[in-house]
Amino acid sequence: MTTAPDRYAVLGHPVAHSRSPAIHARFAAQTGQPITYGRELCPLDGFEPHVRAFAASGARGCNVTVPFKFEALALAGRASARARLAGAANVLGFDGADPAHWWADNSDGIGLVRDIERHAGVALAGTRVLLVGAGGAAAGVLGPLIEAGAAAVVVANRSAGKAEALVQSHADLAQRRRCTLAATPLAAPGEAFDVVLNASSSSLAGAEVPVPAAVLRPGTLAVDLMYGPAAAPFLAWARAHGATARDGLGMLVEQAAEAFRLWRGVLPDTVPVLATLRAEVDAGAGAA
Ligand code: NDP
Repeated sequence: MTTAPDRYAVLGHPVAHSRSPAIHARFAAQTGQPITYGRELCPLDGFEPHVRAFAASGARGCNVTVPFKFEALALAGRASARARLAGAANVLGFDGADPAHWWADNSDGIGLVRDIERHAGVALAGTRVLLVGAGGAAAGVLGPLIEAGAAAVVVANRSAGKAEALVQSHADLAQRRRCTLAATPLAAPGEAFDVVLNASSSSLAGAEVPVPAAVLRPGTLAVDLMYGPAAAPFLAWARAHGATARDGLGMLVEQAAEAFRLWRGVLPDTVPVLATLRAEVDAGAGAA
């Protein structure tokens, strides 16, 4: 008798563009883990009933994407320290239909840190980092950047209050890790950072790069969390000013690998999966 594979999915709105099903299918093939992974479009006002029904159908967990990461954290009975610090969750694990028995985690930050350190080959310890944006993605990455040993992180956001709130919620961690943390306006965030992270949705919106070029110096690592054609203007801007440009594809694969590890207890090898995905995106195959 064969056992049915465990079921997972990414839940969001929109979700049709998501590359997570393809990534997890490759992880499953590589590790021999018996899982299936789909995508579920949730109504904007109906995340909770949708995720409850998905769990009640016997599914074992899900990834959560825009705009439900905050709701996902609030629903689950328990949450990891990094998800609580971020105030948002992109991974849920189910033990039945009752959310009291679900767990929540956030793999976005560790995904970005692993991409920068393993794939881009830049050690974050001792660096000055500019974090542009203060939405769900920025909230997920700030704690792991501090944990990785950044000497200073400046958070610059269009709505100043959101950057200040993020700095406040991470002040204790920053103090413990001797990281200087500050919120600044987008127009004057400082100059010549070691690492510049665009965690705003400016590229997604087709808007101009929201910070002055003085934030870069030759050799700065400039990462847009976006990937595909929408990231191209930011990457071109970074290269034109001597920076090393990188998109968010590596983070996408690494956050997925961490979710897979949380569910299955096995950390997949991300190198071949990222190489395949990179080739597909560069060839313009499928949606970005
Ligand atoms: P949110 O909607 O939660 O936050 C959006 C942020 O972008 C806010 O800080 C907002 O500022 C800012 N913003 C929006 N438009 C502009 C603009 N034109 N100029 C300057 N700032 C702007 O989105 P997320 O944080 O979830 O996502 C942000 C980006 O990160 C997206 O591009 C997303 O695709 C990417 N991402 C990539 C991942 C990956 O694995 N590669 C994972 C998660 C996200 P304000 O507060 O003023 O509204």
